[in-house]
Amino acid sequence: MATNWVPASVIENRPLTDRHFALIFDAELMPFKAGQFARLQIEAMDDDGELKKFANPYSLINAPGEMPAEVYFNIVPGGKVSNGLAALEPGDTFEIAQPCVGFFVLSQVPDVKTLWMMSTGTGVGPFLSMLKTDEAWERFEKIVLVHAVPYAKEFCYSDLINRFVEEHPEQFQFIPVVSREEHDGALKGRIPALIENGEIEERAGLSINKYDSHVMLCGNSGMLKDTKAILKERGMERHLNHKPGHVSAEQYW
Ligand SMILES: Cc1cc2nc3c(=O)[nH]c(=O)nc-3n(C[C@H](O)[C@H](O)[C@H](O)COP(=O)(O)OP(=O)(O)OC[C@H]3O[C@@H](n4cnc5c(N)ncnc54)[C@H](O)[C@@H]3O)c2cc1C
Repeated sequence: MATNWVPASVIENRPLTDRHFALIFDAELMPFKAGQFARLQIEAMDDDGELKKFANPYSLINAPGEMPAEVYFNIVPGGKVSNGLAALEPGDTFEIAQPCVGFFVLSQVPDVKTLWMMSTGTGVGPFLSMLKTDEAWERFEKIVLVHAVPYAKEFCYSDLINRFVEEHPEQFQFIPVVSREEHDGALKGRIPALIENGEIEERAGLSINKYDSHVMLCGNSGMLKDTKAILKERGMERHLNHKPGHVSAEQYW
């Protein structure tokens, strides 16, 4: 099936750190579910100096029905699309594939007491969209968002996350994790190790178990692989439509 590319117009491309951006744009988006992604396409020179189109998937962090649209991305050294996106200025255009796609959505998560959202870097994006929906707050008694970054300055969406904390103080907890420096209030290290040594559960005052929990993982392959292995030791299996489990994952790279 041919990809349906629709034009997108940049409203703002806000630098959040020296390599992270909030790309805010207008486009005629078809209805989508929080957590889904779309391919973004830019024009850039290929290695032979020819202008070509390059595309990669990016999660929307705006909620369904919320406009303008927003993508949270980081520059990957030498990467065509991320560098192309970083160079966009207000008024510039790019293309977005429609409809948005993907199964990393709340409707795919079974009913449980505690929903754990665990992310590295820009992988927090789909969770921000989900947390903007009523479904998240109506379905789960407890929601814990764990976000791991190398340096604390990369907690780029603290204001929004603090708003969730203020609006849902009994239901929602945010656990920041920093790997490469000490940071007040954050756990130090990597998510898999902090599950294994119990620090994440101790901070949340909740346990991660196959009886009342579902874990959603989003981010780099190392975190996903190691976390899945630790959860498997607890009898927590990958969730499939035909075989309900306890772990869902979206791998960015
Ligand atoms: C479903 C899905 C959703 C995604 N959503 C987002 C998103 O919301 N925000 C976002 O920033 N990225 C997201 N990504 C990653 C994104 O699609 C690109 O892979 C990334 O931006 C690099 O693209 P590029 O063309 O610049 O580099 P490429 O030439 O495509 O990649 C160069 C190399 O960098 C690796 N790489 C990819 N991403 C990273 C990274 N973040 N850090 C370090 N190395 C990386 C790739 O594995 C590859 O080896 C998502 C990926 C998937 C599969």
